[in-house]
Amino acid sequence: MKIYLDNAATTPLDKEVLKVMVEVMENQYGNPSSIHAHGREVRTLVEKARKTVANLMNTAPANIFFTSGGTEADNTAIKSTIQDFGITHVITSKIEHHAVGHTLEALESQGKIKLSYVETDAKGNINYAQLEELLKSNERSLVSLMHANNEIGTLTDIERVGELCEAYQAIFHCDTVQTMGHYPHDLSKLKAHFVVCSAHKLHGPKGVGFLYVNPSVKIKPMILGGAQERNMRGGTENVYGIVGLAKALEMAYADMESHQNQIQTLKSYMMKELKKAIPEIDFNGETAPEKSLYTVLNVCFPKMEMADMLLFNLDISGISASGGSACSSGSNIGSHVLFAIGADPDRPSVRFSFSKFNTKEEIDYVVQKVKEIFISETSL
Ligand code: PLP
Repeated sequence: MKIYLDNAATTPLDKEVLKVMVEVMENQYGNPSSIHAHGREVRTLVEKARKTVANLMNTAPANIFFTSGGTEADNTAIKSTIQDFGITHVITSKIEHHAVGHTLEALESQGKIKLSYVETDAKGNINYAQLEELLKSNERSLVSLMHANNEIGTLTDIERVGELCEAYQAIFHCDTVQTMGHYPHDLSKLKAHFVVCSAHKLHGPKGVGFLYVNPSVKIKPMILGGAQERNMRGGTENVYGIVGLAKALEMAYADMESHQNQIQTLKSYMMKELKKAIPEIDFNGETAPEKSLYTVLNVCFPKMEMADMLLFNLDISGISASGGSACSSGSNIGSHVLFAIGADPDRPSVRFSFSKFNTKEEIDYVVQKVKEIFISETSL
């Protein structure tokens, strides 16, 4: 039995998405910048995809820029804000994805920005009062905070962050990679200047995503070259990827509620069964449905001799998950997120992350294997 529970890392491509991509690959090879019929047809596909994405997000197509994925979109939002608007103070957290964290650290080490970190509690919730203090006591800032944490699943109240940013004239970049297609995003209401999508997190293809740029901010071209993406990002478009992204997002929105119910049920069931099997188990991050991304469950195991072998043994049993333990101070090994929330570095953690393709039978199998591995490790 092979079980895939690493959907926060990437999701399987949906067959329906593949179908539309193959159709384009086979039949639509024109360059969208060419003015002849072959090119024009493909241009129409790209613009149709942009319109689909924009409609789902409740914004205008002109605010959607296709990128190579979440990392590029995060980098662009951050670097553009700093270079184009002369912002020198950034507020972020210690639990951001490396696409954000490493970008900001590099800018800080180049002397371009001063970084302030908003505190996070033991479950990964940000301190909103301190965020307000930071906004109050600094000149116009960039705030870069993620919607859902990719390791522990804790959700941030981004409406509240958006309101705070508006009150203090800050620019708000929100890494929404883990929530796009899983929760509805209404960009006509959300007070964010930048949000981000990566198609492979929602059963779309890898290597494509988009950056939403609020029309109130005008950034300069991200990649110089041709006139693609309305002069903002030179380079021939990833046409199949773009078409696949739009299809994946459309499908995600069509069935969002039923997938949410189905996946949340699996997650709650797994929590209950794991606790029954190994009562000493805890969970990292928030777990209440209204505070936690329903696709992610981060399990904190009791201290064990062969902690390093846990993921390996799961892998041997045909179960793909990811994890580790909190990194020790100053080291790059281990999870910076678990370290930041103060998780015990001696306790191994495993992130199980779900998709619409997972079943209760799979969860039963995983819980059984986890129990077996745990018993054999602790009886060594
Ligand atoms: N941000 C978050 C929260 C993520 O989980 C990921 C992917 O793991 C990224 C950004 C990067 O996205 P991509 O893989 O499309 O570059």
